[in-house]
Amino acid sequence: MVLIDGSEGEGGGQVLRSSLALSMLTGAPFTLANVRARREKPGLQRQHLTAVRAAAEVCSARVEGDAVGSRQVSFYPGPVRAGSYVFRVGTAGSATLVLQTVLPALLCADGPSELTLEGGTHNPMAPPFDFVDRVFLPWVNRMGPTVTATLARSGFYPAGGGRFTVSVAPSPRLAPLAVMTRGAVCERRVVARVAGLAWAIADREVKAADALLGWGEGCLRAESLPKDQGPGNVVLVEVGCEGARELFVATGERGVRAETVAERVAKEALDWLDADVPVGEHLADQLLLPMALAGAGRFVTVEPSQHTVTNARVIERFLPVSIGWEAKGARAWEVTVRAR
Ligand code: AMP
Repeated sequence: MVLIDGSEGEGGGQVLRSSLALSMLTGAPFTLANVRARREKPGLQRQHLTAVRAAAEVCSARVEGDAVGSRQVSFYPGPVRAGSYVFRVGTAGSATLVLQTVLPALLCADGPSELTLEGGTHNPMAPPFDFVDRVFLPWVNRMGPTVTATLARSGFYPAGGGRFTVSVAPSPRLAPLAVMTRGAVCERRVVARVAGLAWAIADREVKAADALLGWGEGCLRAESLPKDQGPGNVVLVEVGCEGARELFVATGERGVRAETVAERVAKEALDWLDADVPVGEHLADQLLLPMALAGAGRFVTVEPSQHTVTNARVIERFLPVSIGWEAKGARAWEVTVRAR
């Protein structure tokens, strides 16, 4: 039984999701105390409960403490079964984070899987669908499996109602990966999307982002989604390089000017470009688990966030790896995953 204290380090939902994923993969049961202790609303929220139930369904686990508001969860996994699954968050909670929970086990399962996920697809503080599809999964696919994701409908907070499907062709072993340089920039794009809101908002956003980025009209796209997918607004800034890709996001909020939303995301992209590293802050914490499964991996990133550090410590509790980082210049850090 692995005992985890959810109040340590970053103290958020990642500790739970990583513990679930690793428990499914290793067969080791765990108890997580002080679930999400450092969040404003601690304990299991609807989205986390969906992740617990999704994980339990995929590996026929016995679970204790699986209720909204619960501060302690125990999870006793059984064998992972590939197959067709539908996971519904039931609110606008992030469906991509439910995918993050179950995908690692299915990457190494003994057959293909087809997943349908419903909930939020573009949430604050979670990977937007586009990031999963265009940044995270291509790296996973470089490690052996073939995973494709298709967006059927966007879902924004607070309405939710998003849906996407994911096909997983697993690989018995994941190959180690090294992501050390990003090379020259070859693609740049700013996309602002609105659903059930005036197209002029998206138009103002791409222009405001470009006032900082200076990439020119050809890189800007203002899109309007069908009204019934709204209300919602998201601005995505994507940079494709010879050896890496990153995608930055900001979601529109009531009471926050469109220009402010666009400037936030443009600044994040400029900051990553300035750091001259291939892997951004969020991709860094998401690459650790697949690399640990491969038994080795390395990448160059910005200074590891508390999120990344906490995730590394959780991974080390379940798998025989050690994860370390070393400064490699003014803003670059090398993260290394080694077998121990
Ligand atoms: P937590 O805050 O512990 O629930 O975890 C949030 C998860 O969402 C982590 O895996 C982050 O890497 C991921 N995440 C948050 N914001 C972004 C973003 N803008 N782009 C991509 N991933 C994100």
